[in-house]
Amino acid sequence: RGPGGQRGVPFNRPGSLTRVYAVASGKGGVGKSTVTVNLAAAMAASGLRVGVIDADVHGFSVPGLLGITAPPTRVDEMILPPVAYGIKTISIGMFLDGNKPVAWRGPMLHRALEQFLTDVYFGDLDVLLLDLPPGTGDIAISVGQLLPSSEILVVTTPQAAAAEVAERAGTVAAQTGQKVAGVIENMSWLPLPGGERMELFGSGGGALVSGRLGTALGYEVPLLGSIPLDVRLREGGDAGLPVVLDESAVEPESAGAELRRIA
Ligand code: ADP
Repeated sequence: RGPGGQRGVPFNRPGSLTRVYAVASGKGGVGKSTVTVNLAAAMAASGLRVGVIDADVHGFSVPGLLGITAPPTRVDEMILPPVAYGIKTISIGMFLDGNKPVAWRGPMLHRALEQFLTDVYFGDLDVLLLDLPPGTGDIAISVGQLLPSSEILVVTTPQAAAAEVAERAGTVAAQTGQKVAGVIENMSWLPLPGGERMELFGSGGGALVSGRLGTALGYEVPLLGSIPLDVRLREGGDAGLPVVLDESAVEPESAGAELRRIA
């Protein structure tokens, strides 16, 4: 294994066709994990081979959002990830006894992520999504080191304060040499019964982050979409059924429709 384990990471092999996206946010609670699993589910439903690594070790939520209760299985040296809705998924939460909080330090997180990348058998994937912890912590740097060709998706809310921290998460990319593929604004508005939009968290955060990152990084960082508030997104998360897979929840202008479009 070479420095940083690069040689052992199949997604770094020359000729690997897997697009790797690390989903980042400046702070928690903006819907990063919800967006990640819904994008993964929509991509898998469209026929892509998709994997998700839940790298949000302190706040792992991906197994629950995908309704996964089965543990990973081991075959020889390899770990076989559970599959839900066609998505191969691995999470630190699958290796813990009960619901204990994780109090790991940076080097341990780095090793855990490295192990996920080298020892988990994903097979050939078209897309690998990583759900990063919020903020600009060690694991974001580790992703840059372990997966140098991965790109970053930044999730923010429309709120100016949230946008500023999201921008910081994006500029870490400049240090690690990763490309920021785009910004996704979540919780953009609440649709009112009369068809109006109530902007609960203000407006413009997504455009602000995309504009500022574009200036800071020197290339266009597109705003990929704006996802409204939708109670079905939260209900789907609680039930382990991504809303993008629910045909009754993807009408025009809905969160589900927008997530499908972004995917
Ligand atoms: P993060 O990963 O950024 O911490 P989560 O994905 O866990 O955020 O989302 C935080 C909470 O907000 C969850 O309860 C989730 O169901 C809810 N949520 C996220 N996006 C939306 C949305 N667009 N509409 C309604 N609820 C949402």
